Amino acid sequence: RAPAQRSEDVIQRYMEVVADAPEEDCIICMEQLSNPSSYETPPSEEGGQSIVPQAVGKFIKCGHTLHMLCMLAMYNNGTKDGSLQCPSCKTIYGEKTGTQPKGKMEIYSVAQSLPGHPDCGTIQIIYSIPPGIQGPEHPNPGQPFTCRGFPRFCFLPDNDKGRKVLELLKVAWMRRLIFTVGTSSTTGEHDTVVWNGIHHKTEMMSNMSGHGYPDPNYLDNVLSELASQGVTEDCLKP
Ligand code: NAD
Ligand code: ZN
Ligand code: ZN
Repeated sequence: RAPAQRSEDVIQRYMEVVADAPEEDCIICMEQLSNPSSYETPPSEEGGQSIVPQAVGKFIKCGHTLHMLCMLAMYNNGTKDGSLQCPSCKTIYGEKTGTQPKGKMEIYSVAQSLPGHPDCGTIQIIYSIPPGIQGPEHPNPGQPFTCRGFPRFCFLPDNDKGRKVLELLKVAWMRRLIFTVGTSSTTGEHDTVVWNGIHHKTEMMSNMSGHGYPDPNYLDNVLSELASQGVTEDCLKP
């Protein structure tokens, strides 16, 4: 886990103050940027620079501008993992992490081919997560969470692209991005472990759920879902 750090420092690491507020609205509070944010400057801690309500910040890479205090409030509402996501274009600054509970990711190789991938074998991923108690990062801290349908079995073609997806899924797992604790859209159950927007194929030879093969777009789709969580090929470079 990243060491604790001041929220203001995270904001100031990825946004720079702009002198003249552009004539635009803040995408968070919808006020004009020339008016102050309605969020208050939090009580200052020692040794840090505080952010004033008038401060307009510009993201260092994508260049989008918004009230720095609005961004601070959004950050403080989230998992406070040291990363920011631009609310306009979704660019991620730093390493986004999620709230996946503790568990196990195992990888096996299977000789049989998947429908639509006759030229190669199959990678099988098995996710196991036991039930437990929700932490402060979960919707109901201190309450139990359930785990349905675990272990979950998932399948990838064992070719170059499938192996690349596997490596990125390992990064996503380490960053706690594959599952989260919430409400299952399939069953309506609350306080349970659910998929977190990175689709997996959970059927090998059938396609009863729609999460099976063949699906010629699957690998590209999951690569873009991984990218939207900040997991890209850059993460695999040493
Ligand atoms: P959910 O219903 O909240 O849906 C979250 C996302 O997961 C959605 O994007 C959805 O498209 C996707 N999804 C839904 N069903 C899926 C499936 N069978 N395989 C792959 N992706 C799926 O998420 P959830 O509650 O985590 O999962 C949905 C249901 O699927 C649950 O009831 C779970 O028990 C069941 N499931 C069972 C197994 C099993 O091996 N028995 C494996 C996976 C999922
Ligand atoms: Zn604002
Ligand atoms: Zn942006």
